[in-house]
Amino acid sequence: MENFSGKSIFRGIAIGKILFNSKNQRQVRRSKIDNIEAEIARFEEAKEKASQELSVLYDKALKEVGEDNAAIFEVHSMMLDDDDFNDAIIDKIKNQLVNAEYAVAKTGDDLSEMFANMEDEYFKARASDMKDISERVISKLTGEDSAVLLKEPSIIVAEDLAPSETIQLDKDKLLAFVTELGSSNSHTAILARTMNIPALIGIKINTKWNGKLAVVDGYSGNLIIEPDEKTLDKYLKIQKDDLEKRELLKELKGKDTITKNGKKVNLFANIGKPSDLTSVLENDAEGIGLFRSEFLYLGSKDFPTEEEQFSAYKKVAETMGSKKVIIRTLDIGADKQVDYFNLGHEDNPAMGYRAIRICLSQQNIFKTQLRALLRASAFGNISIMYPMIISVNEVKQIKEIVKNIMEELKTEGIDFNDNIEQGIMIETPAAVIMSDELAQEVDFFSIGTNDLTQYTLAVDRQNPKLENINDTHHPAVLRSIKTVIENAHKAGIWAGICGELGADTSLTETFLSYGIDELSVSPTFILPVRKAIRDSETINN
Ligand code: PEP
Ligand code: MG
Repeated sequence: MENFSGKSIFRGIAIGKILFNSKNQRQVRRSKIDNIEAEIARFEEAKEKASQELSVLYDKALKEVGEDNAAIFEVHSMMLDDDDFNDAIIDKIKNQLVNAEYAVAKTGDDLSEMFANMEDEYFKARASDMKDISERVISKLTGEDSAVLLKEPSIIVAEDLAPSETIQLDKDKLLAFVTELGSSNSHTAILARTMNIPALIGIKINTKWNGKLAVVDGYSGNLIIEPDEKTLDKYLKIQKDDLEKRELLKELKGKDTITKNGKKVNLFANIGKPSDLTSVLENDAEGIGLFRSEFLYLGSKDFPTEEEQFSAYKKVAETMGSKKVIIRTLDIGADKQVDYFNLGHEDNPAMGYRAIRICLSQQNIFKTQLRALLRASAFGNISIMYPMIISVNEVKQIKEIVKNIMEELKTEGIDFNDNIEQGIMIETPAAVIMSDELAQEVDFFSIGTNDLTQYTLAVDRQNPKLENINDTHHPAVLRSIKTVIENAHKAGIWAGICGELGADTSLTETFLSYGIDELSVSPTFILPVRKAIRDSETINN
């Protein structure tokens, strides 16, 4: 038995045989050609076939994993038609007199390396897409099929997996993925989550594993090759428990989120984009407690327009009907970087120019978003929430800007909810300490425990070396939460938690004892948290 440790990108246990996918190691030979025109024609023909295959894949993905995930194949089609890619290939055939396979492989490698060296995470993730595209064209040139065929339920182990390879796999026979490369931001990772299968990255892979029995532990991030009987039994039991839990949880759909002694808690979901709504509805969330609107900016090559934002917010509001939808204004900066913002280098980005600080200093960006939000408020139950607040003065400035935009919309005869709820995130120690005064200015508090822990403990949430002291259960964090809820209640407003800690069921009773009014968690945690609340009794409130 051997144990390898990596990073989990989706939870769960898989037990089965490994199928090693070594496609990425394919060697392309360089040979000299004498008929340039014929070689270019071979390339054009292969490209056409690849393009047709991509449109078939798009349709398949659209049906199986939805429009957002299918969009990657549209991106591939565009990359395939890209002038830089095509010109570089034709140039190599013409001037170096090389075969089309070599010209495509070399161009794909060069461009992929260029993407891999980019700072922006979005473009970095395009490196594997570039490889995928050139592999597809090469397979059309050589006549070898690039799809992995699953004959039996298997754990796929590969150096890297391209989104197109992932989507071509037979879902019924795919148990898990393990890759050496890849990042949590890659589309393959996103697909793994959408397909609900355990997946690990960052494991040094070995071809000798092919055909061996293995366990993928998506909870701890471990891969166990040839588990001994005791280990296998342990994982079979966890797998069985998982299944039973999932079945049991389904029974909680449609039930109230209420403690044994009758205290109602609002159980909302955190989302990043409108397409996450499927999982919100599936898991029976009672509203949206945090819509991280910055994902609209991260997924875009330029500032999203008022219309683009309006239609995203309107879609979420309409889908949720009368249920509350809390949309957080732009929280860009720190770990969420976007090239077109030109934020530049900062020595301390987490404590730097981010979130509300950008919005208050570049008010044109903020106003576009606020106009879109207010216009969308006419179509559902929208609330607005502001991140990274440190002072009462910031809140007063924001309210003034909102007031002016409301006047503007009124003059233009545009409908909006002029009573819209406005709240703030409590993510900084300053906001905790000032929460009594801040509560006089807003309609609600939502505690962002991810950042609150980072700033309270002075522990960078991104630094893996500090994982062991990034203690969200630290008494300083818990006392802060208690203080914030007390100050909210004294001022007659509600307080919730939308950081990851809200889903930690070992603390549900504690939060209830503080008088928490709302918890907003990732959609998959809705039912487990509902169970924890229904199993609890409130002590103080
Ligand atoms: C938080 O900080 O807890 C939070 C919910 O915001 P984000 O994780 O997006 O910074
Ligand atoms: Mg935060």
